[in-house]
Amino acid sequence: MPVYDFKCSRCGNKFTVLVPMDEKGKVECPQCRGKEITQLFTGFGIGKGGGSSCDISGSTKRFGGG
Ligand SMILES: [Zn+2]
Repeated sequence: MPVYDFKCSRCGNKFTVLVPMDEKGKVECPQCRGKEITQLFTGFGIGKGGGSSCDISGSTKRFGGG
């Protein structure tokens, strides 16, 4: 089942729901139970965050002077 992102235009709540295609129109806001929701198109393959392998440990260099 595909997941869809929606935004409620009533309370501004953003949520993701897992619904079958033909039930997209029945989705309501889980927060305010509003039906005025907009589907967000986030696209495929969101490469956000995730673990990075090469991470330089921050060695703070202090420049002289006080
Ligand atoms: Zn809402």
